Amino acid sequence: MDKNFQEELTQIIKFQPPLYKQRHQFVKDLVEKYKPKKVADLGCADCSLLWMLKFCSCIEVLAGLDICANVMREKMHTLSPLPVDYLQPSERSLTITLHHGSVAHKDPCMLGFDLVTCIELIEHLEESELKKFPEVVFGFMAPSIVVISTPNSEFNPLLSRVMLYRHPDHKFEWSQAQFQSWALETARCYNYSVEFTGVGHPPTGMEKVGFCTQIGVFVRKYPQTGESVQSEKPTEAVYKTVFKAVYPSLKDEKYLQNAVISEVIFTAQIIKYRLMSKREEYGDDPERKSKFQPSMDCFSDYLGKLVVEKNMEPFVSGNEVYIPLKTIFAFPKVNRLCGTFEKLCKLIAGKVTLSSDGSAVMFNIEHEEN
Ligand code: SAH
Repeated sequence: MDKNFQEELTQIIKFQPPLYKQRHQFVKDLVEKYKPKKVADLGCADCSLLWMLKFCSCIEVLAGLDICANVMREKMHTLSPLPVDYLQPSERSLTITLHHGSVAHKDPCMLGFDLVTCIELIEHLEESELKKFPEVVFGFMAPSIVVISTPNSEFNPLLSRVMLYRHPDHKFEWSQAQFQSWALETARCYNYSVEFTGVGHPPTGMEKVGFCTQIGVFVRKYPQTGESVQSEKPTEAVYKTVFKAVYPSLKDEKYLQNAVISEVIFTAQIIKYRLMSKREEYGDDPERKSKFQPSMDCFSDYLGKLVVEKNMEPFVSGNEVYIPLKTIFAFPKVNRLCGTFEKLCKLIAGKVTLSSDGSAVMFNIEHEEN
């Protein structure tokens, strides 16, 4: 390569978005494609990839592992649930755990994952660790997908300020041929297939140099069931758990109950409000007190359709307003939350004031009317 041309390039190669973001986006795209439920990030460093992945709604278990506890601690608080997560618990469950340990050691907490990511990790491993790494990841953990990224040394001459390696802690940096032969041999040994790609395109006309970051995506060729894995691989725990967050979820009966109670009361209040407005408008005249007539908003329209059916009409008796549970259950959000009418009754029992036969939510309006 012409030296001047190379120097010119050295000045202009700046990746946009930055390379680390492109790597993380690559993983996110992979998650969206394969929809893994359990994802482990090995060499998770400051947890920034884990933080990005916690927003992927298919993921229910996220784990991070790093040999340096301090680097994980720096930002691990960003993985904790926020107040909004408690106010509006998600439908999925999500547990995030961080472990302190080495990828050269096996620990049972790393079993049962669907996707394992090793982003810019292997080049930080000592020779002895790199030797053990395939057995731990592909032999022991054996997830259905493994993604490994590492610098492509052929790209280095195009980057400014790269002396020997891109980072002082790198133990090696491989050419495309070196990475591919290691990856193909590993895949062959553990019965995986592997495809190569990367992020950080080379400049036009220099495609042979390859991507700045080379990536191997390994897919397990044999099926495996979660439970058999754990029982077949008894191993002592060696990692130390440094962080664990269990997100509030509607899968947890406690949060589901709260959500259902709030939604039932909210829906009943709106129905009551509409009923009272109609009464004010038409008085008690039975001729004029038409049932819920078509109105301008869809809630009333919906309610109007519902009350056509017998037993679903809210009514006033003395100082009490009764909103049938069947009516409330017919509203999409309540319906989706509870699934069955029996479940609705069970979840609100003793928590919401009901009519004596338990068929309607009851409000006393004595003081409201005065
Ligand atoms: N994956 C991150 C950071 C990579 S830097 C990202 O995408 O930005 C490499 C990380 O691997 C460092 O945090 C380092 O502490 C960790 N590491 C190095 N050797 C390790 C080992 N044997 N086991 C686990 N983590 C290791």
